[in-house]
Amino acid sequence: MNSIRLEPLRDEIVLLTIDLPGKSANVLTETLWEDLASATDQLTADPPRGVILVSAKPTVYVAGADLSLIERSLDWSDERIVRFCEEGRAIMARFSQLPTVSVAAIHGACVGGGLELALWCDIRIVDDNQKTLLGMPEVRLGLVPGWAGTVRLPRLIGLGPAIDLVTSGRLVEPAEALELRLVSAVVRKENLIDQSVQAIHSARESGTYLERRRELEGPVDDLPDDLVRLAGSAQNRIDARLELDRTAPSIVLEHMIESSSMNAREACGGESRAMARVWGSPENRGLLHWFLTEERAKKTRPRSDTAAPLRPDSIGIVGAGLMGRRIAQLSLAAGYRVLLFDADRTKLLEAVESLQATSPNRGSATAASSIESFVDCDLVVESIVEKLSVKRLLLERLCQVVGEEVVLATNTSTIPVADIATSVSRPDRFIGLHFCCPVEPMRLVEVVRGEATSDRTLDVALGLVRAFRKTPVVVADYPGFVVNRLLCPVFDEALLLLQQGITAPEIDAPFRKFGFAAGPLEMIDFIGVDTIMYAGETFLRTLPDLISLTPILPALVKRGRLGRKTGVGFYRYHQFDGPPVDDPELVDILARYQLEQMPLEEDELLSRLLDRMIDAARGVLASRIVPDPMDVDLCSVLGTTFPAVKGGVLFWADDGCKSGH
Ligand code: NAD
Repeated sequence: MNSIRLEPLRDEIVLLTIDLPGKSANVLTETLWEDLASATDQLTADPPRGVILVSAKPTVYVAGADLSLIERSLDWSDERIVRFCEEGRAIMARFSQLPTVSVAAIHGACVGGGLELALWCDIRIVDDNQKTLLGMPEVRLGLVPGWAGTVRLPRLIGLGPAIDLVTSGRLVEPAEALELRLVSAVVRKENLIDQSVQAIHSARESGTYLERRRELEGPVDDLPDDLVRLAGSAQNRIDARLELDRTAPSIVLEHMIESSSMNAREACGGESRAMARVWGSPENRGLLHWFLTEERAKKTRPRSDTAAPLRPDSIGIVGAGLMGRRIAQLSLAAGYRVLLFDADRTKLLEAVESLQATSPNRGSATAASSIESFVDCDLVVESIVEKLSVKRLLLERLCQVVGEEVVLATNTSTIPVADIATSVSRPDRFIGLHFCCPVEPMRLVEVVRGEATSDRTLDVALGLVRAFRKTPVVVADYPGFVVNRLLCPVFDEALLLLQQGITAPEIDAPFRKFGFAAGPLEMIDFIGVDTIMYAGETFLRTLPDLISLTPILPALVKRGRLGRKTGVGFYRYHQFDGPPVDDPELVDILARYQLEQMPLEEDELLSRLLDRMIDAARGVLASRIVPDPMDVDLCSVLGTTFPAVKGGVLFWADDGCKSGH
């Protein structure tokens, strides 16, 4: 056995330590299963009074199934999937029937298959560490628990709470786990083993653990009279949880309700069948790919070997518009002092006032009287109008004011960093930080490395993005980087559809139905009609084949219809964050630019929009703006709201999932 150690502890109690070699987390690999079976053989041959299961890993108890195995096995037949569940359960069941009291002594994350293993033990005790979390997040991968989690959990904590945990996939902290009776005690880490030993002694004296084992073989106790009602309200909660795809939660709910009055053996059969329904489904494939994409992205961090990475204390922001304000808000929330400047003094004062009113560290946002005030800032982000000449002038001025070491960043959405860098002295300290709009919910920040950008500057930028609790992706210096390269062709297509006589709601609705947070025209209203018009000018200058010259955006800009920020764009807004309202005036404006009247089926319309994004995604990869298709998928989900359940734009386009959705 190389992933499990058995050692005598004291009082004829054995310590079973799980320690998968070479990994920072324990996962249920084939090796671990084999070792658990061998450990059970040894314990059967010479049963101790008790066995305590611990993990040797610092932050993880057992993290669940081996996802790389699942990824390789998505095409398994139903019979093979059922066998996979049965084999795991058989090993755990044999362990649970040992003539010895078993205690899962849990420190760190105990999730998915890890929690199922703990549920097969007689007793669970957790420590009160921050990293100790319990739950069954399988539905978040489009799966269901498959090693009796859906069977033992309701028999231990009751059907309602079990359904809530399994269908939401949420993780609970020790205090809640105790309240739910998922664990019998919460103790300090240093007392975990002593308390487990005591629990073994008292269980042996009372013999209650044997009674409990028998109870777990039967149906769920205390079933509510009205199961239909319980199922209905659980389904409503699933439907309301918009961040989660509802396929797997609905299937597992149906199974848990149906199997609650069965004995555990029959219920396990139902669990295997539920697993076979979800395993390899388009949702499972998409969500698994997305999970692995996010895990990979976690590795994009500042290098630890950089000499004295700068931790800026004060951040200067030039531009107090839609984006500048939100970047200031992020900076304040991360604990920085912020100096804000805008050429429009009224706008500046209004922005600072609202930042001071809403920020937790009041007083840390200050209005700068001029660019000269930035002299003491450690880092300055420019977020002014998307015009190359104006940005160049500003940076030239900034360079005259700040020290040579000060990192300068641009939030340009489309202009290559190298084009702006011509006006920066020491361009090695210059970098692009492209935030996505709206800033709060959108987690992606493109970190644009210019030709001259130094490693130190890159590390400072990555550290800053992490301090903002956002996900950085390092991209090469191409017009539009990744996010706008994906979005602008879709916007272009939407504008062409308008010219074809299709209305804004008709264009936006199918995009939202597909799973995006907003339709393309709604997105333009979020970003700013003027900003997209300027972005278009950059594309027409640098990549003329990517989009066409549209008369619609200038027409709206001329009328002050800049989107949400002016209360009207393609739609009207009674509040900045309010819902879009149809605007009859738009129809009159567009009538002038209509080229033809050609209605389209919804499917065809959606394909036209999506095909533009897919083509652009392939172009991004071909130009090596990012090196890996997973980076494009990351940007599509976190930067354009492409639905995570579909895995990301390239995965969806290339993996054949298209037919499944
Ligand atoms: P905005 O129009 O809301 O704000 C721009 C602000 O810059 C205005 O308040 C204006 O007064 C100020 N300004 C213009 N010239 C200035 C100068 N020389 N000195 C000081 N202030 C000046 O625009 P925004 O949407 O906040 O965009 C700002 C930048 O962020 C642009 O480069 C844009 O491409 C980029 N960006 C925008 C979005 C988006 O969705 N809106 C997303 C990512 C990046």
